Amino acid sequence: MNNNAQTDAEALAERFSIVELRHEYHSADVSARPDWDDFPYWNWYRSTIEAAIEIKKAQAPTPVPHLAGHIDIEAVRERTDIVTLAEKYGIRLLKSGNNFKALCPFHSDKSPSFYLCPDEKRFHCYGCQADGDFIDFVMKLENIGFKEAVSRC
Ligand SMILES: [Zn+2]
Repeated sequence: MNNNAQTDAEALAERFSIVELRHEYHSADVSARPDWDDFPYWNWYRSTIEAAIEIKKAQAPTPVPHLAGHIDIEAVRERTDIVTLAEKYGIRLLKSGNNFKALCPFHSDKSPSFYLCPDEKRFHCYGCQADGDFIDFVMKLENIGFKEAVSRC
């Protein structure tokens, strides 16, 4: 990547949350929009967003080291609040009964179809059917493995 591209990516990373960047990345998919004719521009734009997402990933919450690789999942489950976790990733939540809803970070969502259940510490999207607990949430969002995801909770 040349210097200008790096600067553009840094500017994007500074302005937007990782979730907003992912939304933008999905919505700037030229292959899904045959009516857009300026392919070189959109391809450049997408690769810049991609670079910004990499920058955000590097800035994500610092992993907590675990002694001798042992992870006490129950303790992590106990202390993790999926709502706080989602907010840490820049997801804007709306209260919906006992749950929260938001624009789904995993697909290009026009109206909130992503639900968080704080009691069960789970998420479900009625748009793309993404589903799981708070650890799956971090794994999917960051595209990382189980252990690394637990260390970010
Ligand atoms: Zn979804």
